[in-house]
Amino acid sequence: MSVDSERRFWDEGVETLPREALEALQLERLQQQLERFREASIYRAKLAEAGTEPGDIRTLDDLARIPVVTKHELRVDQAEHPPYGSFALAEPSTWRELHPSSGTTGEAVKTIWSAHDVDTITEFTARTLWQFGVRPGDVVQNSFAYGLWVAGMSVHHASSRIGAFVIPLGTAVPVEKQISYLLSARSTVLLSTPSYALHISEALVRDGIDADRLALRVGCFGGEGGAENPSTRALIETRLGIDAFDYYGLAEIGPTFASECQEQAGLHFAEDHVLVECLDPDTRLPVPDGELGVLTFTHLTREATPMLRYWSNDYARLTHEPCDCGRTHVRAVGGILGRHDDLVVFKGAKFYPSQVETVIRRMPVLSPEFRIEVTREPGGVRVQRCTVVAEWLGDSVPGLESTLVHDLRGELGVTPSLRIEPPGTLERTAFKAARIVEC
Ligand SMILES: [Zn+2]
Repeated sequence: MSVDSERRFWDEGVETLPREALEALQLERLQQQLERFREASIYRAKLAEAGTEPGDIRTLDDLARIPVVTKHELRVDQAEHPPYGSFALAEPSTWRELHPSSGTTGEAVKTIWSAHDVDTITEFTARTLWQFGVRPGDVVQNSFAYGLWVAGMSVHHASSRIGAFVIPLGTAVPVEKQISYLLSARSTVLLSTPSYALHISEALVRDGIDADRLALRVGCFGGEGGAENPSTRALIETRLGIDAFDYYGLAEIGPTFASECQEQAGLHFAEDHVLVECLDPDTRLPVPDGELGVLTFTHLTREATPMLRYWSNDYARLTHEPCDCGRTHVRAVGGILGRHDDLVVFKGAKFYPSQVETVIRRMPVLSPEFRIEVTREPGGVRVQRCTVVAEWLGDSVPGLESTLVHDLRGELGVTPSLRIEPPGTLERTAFKAARIVEC
């Protein structure tokens, strides 16, 4: 199949659907899925808790009557119904890929893609790639981890569907090899975590390779927040000579089902496949557009391991306003603003690592790497000692510490301790960088 490079949208009919028609499509798909959800004991229990039958859900707002499901509950269900839980609904003969969650704590939740799921995931991932500018003939350097992690495989399948040439480098190669392929294969698109993109760009600077020697045009960066952080975006764009876009996905729901468009105006979700809610963390009721809440997702088309109101723990602000690009699907403005687990509560202030990132990455004499060392009260969440660890890019600069402390206090509303290490001290990672270290 050949694809017309000139068209603006991958799937214009769906991407620009008026809200009313989009919501009618969502309701139709939701009602079909609810019949299937009832086959899983974990969801039957949720429906019973709400005193609800699938037929009682007559509007999208009715969905809020069903309690959310957490990662912990999915883990318990998989332990009770090994190996894939009561929510592994499709016929095993249709299963094609296994992708466990990639969290750092607790047992992974195992999710399955059926043949139909691989097809829909490939389709909406192709949509996201198109959205930020990948076209037939592009050379896509896929530096997302391959294997169990969701993003490597999904962008591989989708780049191929668009008609791009994929270099499946993954992350299990030295950074020098990434640079060698950027130069020799003339890669035009780079896909990786923002941390890895910074690591690659740092090695380019170290080796004296100018961005204008690369053929790179665009990059999309996910697996962790950062690509929409203005300081981080500016660093990546300048050092690699590209337009940089944000990407979002999570193993339980699917890879790469949200990305920025060329307007760089927030993450567009593929709402015809996933119903997106933004809920108050305490009351778990929907918050209005523009207010901070926890993203909660329901699969509208997933066949194998579908999720019903999955509580993601990721904080964002939504807008349903149409974007200047013409797409009507809901956006998370400013990307993912923090993970519930990453919230630091210190001396009465609350902040996320992304706020430290903003301060560190606008200081040209510091490397983009940083850590937040925390010591918590026994068994509690409050942090008793908090040290921001930064790293010099080259020689140390006298007096910078006091500027940095001043800026951190301004951004965080509290003053952590500060330590600046010599260049190259902090570990670089190709996967997800752990910014918070328990001491
Ligand atoms: Zn847009």
